[in-house]
Amino acid sequence: MPQLAYVDGRVLPLRDAGVGVEDRGLQFADAIYEVVAVLGGRLLDWPAHLVRLRRNLAALFIDFPMSDAALSAQALRLVAANGHKQALLYIQIGRGAARRDHGFPSDPNASLIMTVRRFDFQQRIAQLQTGVGVITVNDMRWGRVDIKTTGLLANVLAKQDARNAGAFEAWMVAEDGTVREGGSTNAWIVRGGTVFTHPLSRHILPGIARSALLRLAADVQVRVVEEAFDLETARSADEAFLTSTTSPILPVVRIDGVAVGDGKPGPVTARLAGAIWADITAQTGWTAF
Ligand code: PMP
Repeated sequence: MPQLAYVDGRVLPLRDAGVGVEDRGLQFADAIYEVVAVLGGRLLDWPAHLVRLRRNLAALFIDFPMSDAALSAQALRLVAANGHKQALLYIQIGRGAARRDHGFPSDPNASLIMTVRRFDFQQRIAQLQTGVGVITVNDMRWGRVDIKTTGLLANVLAKQDARNAGAFEAWMVAEDGTVREGGSTNAWIVRGGTVFTHPLSRHILPGIARSALLRLAADVQVRVVEEAFDLETARSADEAFLTSTTSPILPVVRIDGVAVGDGKPGPVTARLAGAIWADITAQTGWTAF
């Protein structure tokens, strides 16, 4: 079965899908996006993704006339047509194509692109046993990283640094030493049984997996505080982990090559992982275990 994409009302083979050279998403990263987990053919945390998508459109003054119901129907149709049980749905909405000029076009015509690619979530279960390593880099992004735009160059470079170092992720650290988040994941540590993560602000992306964890932690009697921590504190933490749509929760067992705690995935992270994967099963019917 060929991979299918959606571009402005048309469903077509991914290899034939494209946008014009004057698309503002292409030229200015004047676009927002979402990545949604598809498990058992169902969309995980879809209402939360819709809320974030609308907030990002409003933040960039992108006028997108399609209703939530119509967008949901198109997304589900594409997911069904692609037929993957485990996949990632990518949605990008931009200010559309116009003669190149920084200011907004006077008659903008927002564009919608969607793709569905197979994705192996089972590997994330295996990684719960081993954990992953992160490196640290300076956070050199712009001042509104809470808006999920396609302008991801600093994240791209950070992730490549991580890959070059044989690490899974790069944690982006502010000039004052505060750990903000990863290149595409939120960052967490555990100290004395309490979990810490950076509070919502203009300096982090409000992750959907992050909010799922905040909602579920109480179910497994884990205390979480939204309080920033610095790199030194992270290095001496008992445990660390990361969250995202593509990595619902993964233990971080090395920071810059140095073991966190005893260098093995810890018990608090394991309890949270149990709660998160149970919620994924409850929402989608998909079981990994
Ligand atoms: N931070 C950044 C910078 C990201 O790009 C992502 C992934 N979109 C996240 C955190 C995690 O967000 P989510 O849980 O919604 O995937």
